[in-house]
Amino acid sequence: MKYLLLFLIPWIGFSECVDEVLLKGNKLLNLNQKDNIYVEMENRFISLKKIKTLDPKKIYSVQILEEDQNKSDYNDKYLNYYGLPRFRFFLKKIAPKASQASYLIERIGESVKARDIFVIRPAKLDPNKKTLLMLVRHHGNEGTANWIFEGFIVPYLKNQELLSTTQIIVYPMINPDGVVGRSRYNANGFDLNRTWESPVDEVKLVADHLKTLISYNKIDFLLDMHSHKSEDIIYRVDEDYLSLDYYFNQSTFIETLGRYDFWQNGNYIVSNGKEGMSRIFFADNYKINSLTHETLKNIPRAGEARRTIKTLKEQGRALNQAIFDYLN
Ligand SMILES: [Zn+2]
Repeated sequence: MKYLLLFLIPWIGFSECVDEVLLKGNKLLNLNQKDNIYVEMENRFISLKKIKTLDPKKIYSVQILEEDQNKSDYNDKYLNYYGLPRFRFFLKKIAPKASQASYLIERIGESVKARDIFVIRPAKLDPNKKTLLMLVRHHGNEGTANWIFEGFIVPYLKNQELLSTTQIIVYPMINPDGVVGRSRYNANGFDLNRTWESPVDEVKLVADHLKTLISYNKIDFLLDMHSHKSEDIIYRVDEDYLSLDYYFNQSTFIETLGRYDFWQNGNYIVSNGKEGMSRIFFADNYKINSLTHETLKNIPRAGEARRTIKTLKEQGRALNQAIFDYLN
């Protein structure tokens, strides 16, 4: 089915983590396989299975998801899915290290289905330090993003050199309902990483909280952490998007990370995205160097590359080194 769609649809440049395409209503009506097709209707993504009527002439924005993550044998086939029990365990585990580094782990509110949402942040922000904003798991089903985050934050909180020159504000799990439901979307059907221009639900909570901590224009660097269907890749804008300086700044970080992260290896995709994506929102409005960090989503246990949870954490560790080199 996906193969067929490739021929029917003009590909457009804003797909990220997912196959995102424009399709006419009549094409959608003729699809037999509807399980993993989601159609944007009034900013929400609705399963094609649940849609009663479509305008045959209208063009719809459509996301085509993979189905593997919903299968009960996922953890037998792939590296363990990163769910809420692990997340809660991990927050407890790093609490003493956070405290030693004068960082707080705070509950900022709750998701649509009343699940806790957290921030990890310095107890006191220092205007003289470079500030990194990290957003993790806009998309609930992208579990490897959190394994990378674990590998990143543990050495960060212990690294006196990094702590003395930089500070980080991180929202380590933005879409817990999606995490539990193994859904890309939040409980109201929003693709949260399309909502930063007009924040809703969990992104509104995060955006409002972030404003209480810092003026957006004081943020030096943004990493938005995701998982990708087929590769380890960084999304960045093209050289005409803002300025050549901006473009080269992005190149500098990507090349630096590539030196430390064997799997990422300097790979990137140029995409000017959509305005509701966090990286585009912070680039457009505040000129912040903003990148989307993607790690392979479904990593086979018996894969030839011999990737493990440990190697995912090593990729997170590599981010420390790249960030230190880039911000200093
Ligand atoms: Zn994603």
